Amino acid sequence: MTDEQLQALVIQISQQFFKRPFLHQARFNHRLRTTGGRYLLQSHDIEINPKQYKVHGLEELIGIIKHELCHYHLHLQNKGYRHRDQDFKKLLKKVGGSRHCKTIDGMRTEETVKYSYRCERCQQLYLRKRKIDLQKYVCGKCSGRLVATNLKNELQQL
Ligand SMILES: [Zn+2]
Ligand SMILES: [Zn+2]
Repeated sequence: MTDEQLQALVIQISQQFFKRPFLHQARFNHRLRTTGGRYLLQSHDIEINPKQYKVHGLEELIGIIKHELCHYHLHLQNKGYRHRDQDFKKLLKKVGGSRHCKTIDGMRTEETVKYSYRCERCQQLYLRKRKIDLQKYVCGKCSGRLVATNLKNELQQL
């Protein structure tokens, strides 16, 4: 999918689900790593992580576009556009957007990843905001032991 096709898709979803025009730019941003998409407060543009589409497909992409359009339309109307605002929660539910701008491994939107771990046995990657107590927690897939890894390296491989 090209930027032009993405732009057309965002315009279409905006009309269909929000009954309002999208008058700014939507584009893929290859540098986004931990979020599926973001809304830029200053330019009103929307950026989408291209990996999101490649990994999760069109349906997930549409969910993320709806999520970003909730930020967009509420912000332009001076309503509560943040995740914690009631306006945002209501509108998101109404249009059926993604709860979070999901990422490849299921990390939530706009949360900063600070720690990375891998399972010794199955190599499953875990990205986390908080430290995991390695004495207490094991791999959710295979119950193998988790080891801390280099976050920078892990993010580069995504
Ligand atoms: Zn968001
Ligand atoms: Zn495992």
